[in-house]
Amino acid sequence: MILVTGGAGFIGANFVLDWLAQHDEPVINLDKLTYAGNLENLATLEGDPRHVFVKADIGDQALVERLLAEHRPRAVVNFAAESHVDRSIHGPSEFVTTNVVGTFALLEAARGYHAGLTGAELDGFRFLHISTDEVYGSLAADDPAFTEAHAYQPNSPYSASKAGADHLVRAYHHTYGLPTLTTNCSNNYGPYQFPEKLIPLVIHNALAGRPLPIYGDGSNVRDWLYVGDHCSGIRRVLEAGRPGAVYNIGGENEWTNIAIVRHICARLDAHRPDPAGPYDRLIDFVTDRPGHDRRYAIDATRLREELGWRPAEDFASGIERTIAWYLEHPDWVNRVVSGAYREWVAQQYGDA
Ligand code: NAD
Repeated sequence: MILVTGGAGFIGANFVLDWLAQHDEPVINLDKLTYAGNLENLATLEGDPRHVFVKADIGDQALVERLLAEHRPRAVVNFAAESHVDRSIHGPSEFVTTNVVGTFALLEAARGYHAGLTGAELDGFRFLHISTDEVYGSLAADDPAFTEAHAYQPNSPYSASKAGADHLVRAYHHTYGLPTLTTNCSNNYGPYQFPEKLIPLVIHNALAGRPLPIYGDGSNVRDWLYVGDHCSGIRRVLEAGRPGAVYNIGGENEWTNIAIVRHICARLDAHRPDPAGPYDRLIDFVTDRPGHDRRYAIDATRLREELGWRPAEDFASGIERTIAWYLEHPDWVNRVVSGAYREWVAQQYGDA
């Protein structure tokens, strides 16, 4: 049994689905179901006794303590977070509450639980914290990619809140001996990503004939990794990572934002041509994001050499799969965008 937090979000849901497709070890999935959490992502697990869903906040330490005592998981995998940089610029408070204070509460609960373990349960326990490459700050065009030794230089409230959480995780290992693992991953793409993030936003807006907003001149560079490859990296770190260690996960696949948007437009032209003309006519350069990092790039040598991890998906095939998924799931997109899903959560749980 493992406890996953944030398992109804984009990466968490992909991870839970992958996990239960690979083996039968059950998952307790604790998620607050914010706007970004969507149980529809896990619809194929309905009635599956290997998946126990709990709607809760990672900041509710007493509840987490009860769950740990009751289910005795061998690991906690923490995906739960506020994750969107633009939202963090407009409203940083939730980011500090969930990403810093929430992770602190989860660590406290895990510390108490771990202190009570003995024998094989004690030896096997891991606290795996999922983080981002954005904690390392921004690179110039010819700087080497981020290694795990790179200094933390977060620039947005989002990355600063994730950096704060990463530091707490590190401290809980050094101070209390909690067997932690931290992964710092580059930008993910794939099915079930909320259409506020670049790739699903471009697909969704293009199909609706709406502008495709691009910050500045579109020359900011990101490294992109297919979400299934992120999940396989996390599984590998959980299996064989050294307690206390940090592992970068990335695709070594750098793209400027404008090149990605043009690529998606061209693929959509091929799959679903628009009689009004090529989709790139919709590209709209908008005022740059404040403090916009120029470039992120990940050096994943440690994960490759120590744990033998390799991404399976190249970018062209990953993008094809992603576009195909969004073309096949217009209802999913329309429901999360329209707020119909929020109404359903309110009905089920009495709030939203
Ligand atoms: P997401 O926003 O899609 O999902 C976050 C999930 O956490 C949602 O299900 C939400 O309901 C849940 N959640 C939020 N606050 C909570 C709380 N207080 N208690 C319990 N659950 C809560 O995010 P994502 O893109 O899937 O990212 C998951 C993790 O991976 C985050 O920690 C993020 O920082 C990290 N990460 C994301 C990317 C990326 O490209 N998306 C890259 C690297 C790292």
